[in-house]
Amino acid sequence: MSYDDNESGGRGGRGGFGGRGGGYGAPREMSDAVCSDCGQPCQVPFKPTEGRPVYCRNCFPKHRKF
Ligand SMILES: [Zn+2]
Repeated sequence: MSYDDNESGGRGGRGGFGGRGGGYGAPREMSDAVCSDCGQPCQVPFKPTEGRPVYCRNCFPKHRKF
């Protein structure tokens, strides 16, 4: 009895890695930004940091570091 109880309690039942990603249903928070290359307004899935360039989808690959 006590063994059974201990196991389910220690692992916290279900959960842990249950909610991975959490992608479906909840749209990603997009932030408005201006592309530092072509100057077009775009949206990025993160908060643009001041002083750091932000690139749109077209320009991003050009500035990607390999
Ligand atoms: Zn661009």
